[in-house]
Amino acid sequence: MPGSLSQTLDVIVIGPGIGGLVTATQLAAKGAQVLVLERYLIPGGSAGYFERNGYRFDVGASMIFGFGRRGTTNLLTRALEAVNVRLETLPDPVQIHYHLPNQLELKVHRDYKQFINELSAKFPHEREGIRRFYDECWKVFNCLNAMELLSLEEPRYLTRVFFQHPFACLGLVKYLPQNVGDIARQHIKDPELLKFIDIECYCWSVVPAEMTPMINAGMVFSDRHYGGINYPKGGVGQIAQKLVEGLEKAGGHIEYQARVTQILLENGKAVGV
Ligand SMILES: Cc1cc2nc3c(=O)[nH]c(=O)nc-3n(C[C@H](O)[C@H](O)[C@H](O)COP(=O)(O)OP(=O)(O)OC[C@H]3O[C@@H](n4cnc5c(N)ncnc54)[C@H](O)[C@@H]3O)c2cc1C
Repeated sequence: MPGSLSQTLDVIVIGPGIGGLVTATQLAAKGAQVLVLERYLIPGGSAGYFERNGYRFDVGASMIFGFGRRGTTNLLTRALEAVNVRLETLPDPVQIHYHLPNQLELKVHRDYKQFINELSAKFPHEREGIRRFYDECWKVFNCLNAMELLSLEEPRYLTRVFFQHPFACLGLVKYLPQNVGDIARQHIKDPELLKFIDIECYCWSVVPAEMTPMINAGMVFSDRHYGGINYPKGGVGQIAQKLVEGLEKAGGHIEYQARVTQILLENGKAVGV
């Protein structure tokens, strides 16, 4: 890193995945001098891309939440706005099209009623249970969507958010120790439908319903109909590209082919790399 730059830095972010880039842009927008170091050639990490024969391929994430226009769960929209950049997205009318055993064909439509009607038509004897299960997901989502979303591991944030939104927080407390399997079995009996709920979880949590926290499911199963799934025009890699553009506009820097091999400590405090 150039000597003059290292003298003036407030923060070094190792790795411009979406997490690192959002951290870097938030800090740069608040006036910090930020340097981001990437060991590879492009930003994005697990939300990156590669090109072959004129085609661009996403390497990881492809089902993108966080680009809604309202509420507090539109984290990507707001992360880009913080550094004055915009990214055009295309609304996905169907989040997932399931092709399951026993000719169970199901689309998770962006339109919530359409999805519930299609699922209920496949399991008419469970119509009420389906509605009650997904209603519980909305209860979780509505609590989360009422509060500013930051790290649940930060005690000062949790205290502040509790005083700002006591009812939303109390609404969530009930669900904190619960998994999706527990809630689903309270409302649904059909084993094939319970397996469908397992697959619904597995697609993003990579564990079955009984290991998927209800808080996370409430977010995913509802936000896909609220903010929706929106695909960035030009590919998923555009999210990182735009964040880098915003970072540089806000005075930050990024260096590629800069693998960090050591973090330098002084009195237990990180002072350099
Ligand atoms: C196959 C796959 C599919 C997915 N599908 C979805 C999806 O559909 N929807 C969704 O929301 N999420 C999805 N995810 C998850 C999502 O992509 C990741 O959670 C997210 O992108 C992780 O971001 P991150 O910033 O935490 O880390 P990463 O993306 O891992 O970024 C870390 C960065 O740090 C760099 N780095 C690491 N070590 C060093 C070092 N020593 N020095 C310098 N740089 C370093 C890496 O090169 C990388 O760029 C998927 C993930 C994968 C792998």
